[in-house]
Amino acid sequence: MKRFEVIVIGGGSAGWAATVACARAGRNTLLIERYAYLGGWATAALVNPFMNHCTTDGKPLVGGLYSELRDRLSKSGALLGNSFDTEAMRFIMQETLLEAGGSLRLHTIFDSAQYLPDGTIAVSTRSKSGAETFVCDRLIDCSGDGDAAIALGADFESGDEDGLPQAVTLMFDMGGVDPEKVMTYVRDNPDQMRFPKLPPTADPAALADGTISVAGYYDLIDQARRQGEYSAPGDLIFFIGRPRRGEVVFNTTHVGNIHGTSAEDLTRAEIECRKQMASIVEFVKKYIPGFEKSYLLRSADHVGVRETRRITGDYTFGVEDVVEARKFDDAICRLAYPVDIHSGKGDGYTKEEGKRPVNNAPPGDWYEIPYRCLLAAGLDNVLIAGRCASSTQAGHGAIRIIPACVAMGQAAGTAAARSLAENVSVRDIDTNALIADLREQKALV
Ligand SMILES: Cc1cc2nc3c(=O)[nH]c(=O)nc-3n(C[C@H](O)[C@H](O)[C@H](O)COP(=O)(O)OP(=O)(O)OC[C@H]3O[C@@H](n4cnc5c(N)ncnc54)[C@H](O)[C@@H]3O)c2cc1C
Repeated sequence: MKRFEVIVIGGGSAGWAATVACARAGRNTLLIERYAYLGGWATAALVNPFMNHCTTDGKPLVGGLYSELRDRLSKSGALLGNSFDTEAMRFIMQETLLEAGGSLRLHTIFDSAQYLPDGTIAVSTRSKSGAETFVCDRLIDCSGDGDAAIALGADFESGDEDGLPQAVTLMFDMGGVDPEKVMTYVRDNPDQMRFPKLPPTADPAALADGTISVAGYYDLIDQARRQGEYSAPGDLIFFIGRPRRGEVVFNTTHVGNIHGTSAEDLTRAEIECRKQMASIVEFVKKYIPGFEKSYLLRSADHVGVRETRRITGDYTFGVEDVVEARKFDDAICRLAYPVDIHSGKGDGYTKEEGKRPVNNAPPGDWYEIPYRCLLAAGLDNVLIAGRCASSTQAGHGAIRIIPACVAMGQAAGTAAARSLAENVSVRDIDTNALIADLREQKALV
């Protein structure tokens, strides 16, 4: 059995940050990831861009490892505004983790976990090497699905009051797009766009050099659908420019009634999303100005699953925390992103949706995520970070974005290291000292 002080399950945004933070604190840390690379949904699901980490008046709320990631992406020419390059992300995450001294085991699936009589935790995995067992003093579950915490007996919730989770989306990249032509149409047809709505004086050439985030084309979709040339749900298409000119990523397919921890549901989702993707690709090439010479670059390795299981923690983050801009003594992350929930039925984006009020923090203000959301209720020496942190569905809709997952991961890794240094359970650490550690790491808490 191989021993580590800390084991992190899942190498997405949260797991990467947890491992880097813990390894930098000098702790012998292993990250176990089922795929061939790091990033989780930010790379495997082609998710892009980083959602906003600032207040409405532009004050940054997330620093630390998230800022470091942005800086390294930027230095590699792989960041434009909040839009990043997937390949650069995979490489930078890998290199920072190795530089920090973290150990990495890819192609390995977490299987089960149990407490040993001395309080340490045995972690069992499966891979082409067969079954293996690792032992650790602290376990950080960043699997997004809460696999490890649940194996140790944690409670969880999923979906809305009927158990229905948000719809899933297969993201895909297209190349060969003429961004200037795209932005000319967008400027000239504001009634067809949910966003952006540009003034007639806007310069498409200048816009084409900046961040592109376009949602709309109502009448063209309607026309194509009536002619049997469009079969994806929803009233609009939504795409975001990648840093490389001419490349955009589509966040448009939607399939509902999918439980992201059911292989049967996921199979249905992949099949249905791929049909929708084929229809969208043909549609944009034929109907959307600027896409005439475009082509499908690649689809995500895994349909993007917005939510599965939310582990029940010592505190459950909810919509009241967002709208009341609540602050906490044990805050480990600040955010001002609104509650963002995609219909679980898979209706796709609708015109009406854009007119509804959103649950948000008051202008200029922010809310905080308390450390207690990272503590799995009833479990010793287990932390949960990222998508599976403790929240209601609405709370999750706000804190699931990449910058927050990185911040939660950094806090979890730092807390695990501190608990080893203080020789106390992760529940009993001095949270003022944790916050001081995070500030030293330039986290904005
Ligand atoms: C379609 C879609 C669009 C989104 N759009 C945006 C956006 O525009 N901007 C934004 O900021 N956020 C967006 N999000 C949210 C954001 O991408 C995720 O919430 C965030 O990336 C989750 O990070 P995480 O580290 O918590 O989990 P994940 O990224 O899900 O990482 C979990 C990791 O654990 C691994 N894993 C899981 N189970 C096991 C196991 N048993 N053994 C080993 N490894 C395991 C997985 O392979 C994965 O690498 C979107 C999400 C989706 C699905």
